[in-house]
Amino acid sequence: MSDAKPEAKKIATAKTFKKIMADHFLQIDAAAADSKRKVAWCTSVGPAELLQGFGFEVYYPENHSAILGTIRKATDYIPYANAAGYSPEICSYLTADVGAYMQGFTPLTRAYGIKAVPRPDVLVYNTNQCRDVQDWFKWYAREWQVPCLGIETHRNIGVVTKEHVDSIAGQLRNLAKELEKIAGPLDMDKFKESVGLSRRCSELWEKVLRTGTARPSAITFFDGTIHMGPAVVLRGMQVAVDYYEQLLEELNKRVDDKVAAVEGERFRLYWEGMPIWGKLRPLSEQFLELQTCVVASTYCNSWIFNQLDPDQPFESMARAYTELFIVRSDDVKEDYIAKMCDDYHVDGIVYHDAKTCPANSNCRYGMAQRLSERCNAPNLVINGDLNDLRCYSEEQTRTNIEAFIEQLAQG
Ligand code: SF4
Repeated sequence: MSDAKPEAKKIATAKTFKKIMADHFLQIDAAAADSKRKVAWCTSVGPAELLQGFGFEVYYPENHSAILGTIRKATDYIPYANAAGYSPEICSYLTADVGAYMQGFTPLTRAYGIKAVPRPDVLVYNTNQCRDVQDWFKWYAREWQVPCLGIETHRNIGVVTKEHVDSIAGQLRNLAKELEKIAGPLDMDKFKESVGLSRRCSELWEKVLRTGTARPSAITFFDGTIHMGPAVVLRGMQVAVDYYEQLLEELNKRVDDKVAAVEGERFRLYWEGMPIWGKLRPLSEQFLELQTCVVASTYCNSWIFNQLDPDQPFESMARAYTELFIVRSDDVKEDYIAKMCDDYHVDGIVYHDAKTCPANSNCRYGMAQRLSERCNAPNLVINGDLNDLRCYSEEQTRTNIEAFIEQLAQG
């Protein structure tokens, strides 16, 4: 018997991923250096399609901060933002990103030769995910003296009503009037095209993730955290559609050939909460060793916007960005997770209680216990953080995961 550690199965489409992400960053860098072109910063579930309708190159700082986390640099820079009055308790995407900026660091330099993050003409947020994005963007707005505009979303929504949709669509129309002052008139055809491409991207991304329903699963949560990149930063563009067509073809082949993402898959888990960006690899390796596949997650599914409709761009955007999991009431969230556990045939649920992201930590008010009972699936809570590794104990987590799988093995 070999002592070699099992290796994660490589996804060939990853080569394309690297290229299109590089092109994305280089294109924005070029736009930022060109006085005739406009750059907008946008939150990850912000109104990207509208910005594209105005011809902005769109940059997503959450993606940038996740890269800081992945290369394990975030924890180094968080203290600089803390010293400037941004608490260690608030979003560590914000603190890592602002701290890195203060110190003149960006991982884009090493990866793509880009000197600095692109200076925007406008920053546009949507508070559908949390309030931190607003504070984050306002920091840069003060730093660069550029406008910061936003959509203020309802919270804790049960049923999404016409009133909700109308109020957000109204805000989007007002936002368009403000953007017009910066970028000139909205190109309605381009806007509709972008909404249509985003919809197509969403449909394909959902199909990619659904290859996790197969037994054995063709994909893991850890694959998903990487390959979701284009759904976040390239949605609304043809390149993302092409990418997911290619990825889907590869994964469908895996399903047909019964190729397992985790060799000898014994257990299937659901991941609820943020990724721990700096620990994706060791976690992925531990689950591989335990022949356990994390088959699905709320997080990766958050960039599915199948409500988008090019014939009703404002209303459908309002609906898509309000029907998001993170905006909804606990009852809706529980129904959603229960359905996912059923669809993906999961044996257990892992909750990541991320210290600095309460919006994405759903295990703090009894939901884990309620869902375990409802789904007959034990749960494990991992204490950690998306970016601040000072909040995470690797040793403790390793032990807890081992014990959890042991518990599943004993039935
Ligand atoms: S949802 Fe969480 S991780 Fe995302 S920006 Fe808000 S606080 Fe940060």
